[in-house]
Amino acid sequence: MRTLQRVPTTSPITGQIVAAFGRSFLVKTVSGAALSCVMRGKKGGVACGDVVEVQPTESGQGVIENIMPRSALLYRSDAFREKLIAANITQVIIVVAAVPSFSEELINRCIAAAENQRIKVLIVLNKADLIQPTSTASNILSLYRELGYSLLQLSAKTDIEPLLPHLYDHLSVLVGQSGMGKSTLINALIPAAERATSGISVALDTGRHTTTHARLYHLDDNSRIIDSPGMQEFGLHHIDRDALAWGFVEFRQYMGRCRFNNCRHANEPGCALAQAVQEGRISARRFAFYQKLAK
Ligand code: GDP
Ligand code: ZN
Repeated sequence: MRTLQRVPTTSPITGQIVAAFGRSFLVKTVSGAALSCVMRGKKGGVACGDVVEVQPTESGQGVIENIMPRSALLYRSDAFREKLIAANITQVIIVVAAVPSFSEELINRCIAAAENQRIKVLIVLNKADLIQPTSTASNILSLYRELGYSLLQLSAKTDIEPLLPHLYDHLSVLVGQSGMGKSTLINALIPAAERATSGISVALDTGRHTTTHARLYHLDDNSRIIDSPGMQEFGLHHIDRDALAWGFVEFRQYMGRCRFNNCRHANEPGCALAQAVQEGRISARRFAFYQKLAK
């Protein structure tokens, strides 16, 4: 005998995660509606930017049934868990400022994570109106420009125009320590209307999480940006030693050229990286960051 199935009352809807807070998510469906959702069971994490299939519930909410394959996933991790930052992004924008001082180590960590996901990196030096400290910071950051990363200097308070062409056709994610001016940048970028109508606190029926969530905003038909919570740490537990070295772009040409093929680039004789540092072909600062992270 055949098995007959009842016509489903509602079929799954495809959408994109536009806000993520712990266990609640806001999904923007293909029809443009915003649906408050939870994850089915204990399936793995889901991040802002993820494309998902949602089963609507009778109460007008939804259950995330499926996460579609990702083109990229930016996340950090420590020994115990992973923290997803954003999915399907094509560009990571690292926001720094001279005041309060930024962590160059954090920049190196973000870059290594981005490189390992083949995501483009842009560094924005904000608060350029603070001329003297900005010039010092700019000297430090020139190293990254020499490595091939775009470095943009601007003042989110006065003019974000220089940033706009860099956002075109990308799904970007803004990352950085708190205090660097990410909120100021987002406020300048996103018309108040979209911030209001995305109605997170309304849709999720609570305003409690407003400081710890990630949000996705549409800039135009092809350009979107995700604002992520400020971070002080960027754990790279998920990246092994070789992948970490690969995340330092200028190291790549020396890979496999050390005397020992299991060289840890710590203090071994015949280390091609150490020699490149001595000959001034790799910056001693970058090598020191690598060695610190590799530990
Ligand atoms: P967030 O923690 O990264 O979101 O940083 P905020 O956007 O809250 O900014 C932190 C502080 O820096 C606030 O007092 C801002 O007014 C200030 N700030 C942001 N952008 C600029 C800027 O371009 N120039 C100056 N001088 N201050 C800025
Ligand atoms: Zn080596």
